[in-house]
Amino acid sequence: MKCELPEELLTGYLDNELNEEERIKVEKHLSRCRKCRYELETLSSLLTNILLNE
Ligand SMILES: [Zn+2]
Repeated sequence: MKCELPEELLTGYLDNELNEEERIKVEKHLSRCRKCRYELETLSSLLTNILLNE
């Protein structure tokens, strides 16, 4: 499957920087794209590590 979700939407989703419309778009995409779910998990554990190290 071709993945069309820009990475800045994923990072924005994690940082809670998206508007309603963008968030829905990301959630819809995540529900059918395993690659992005994996990416999101990776990003979120990276973020957690960064926060813990501060
Ligand atoms: Zn994707």
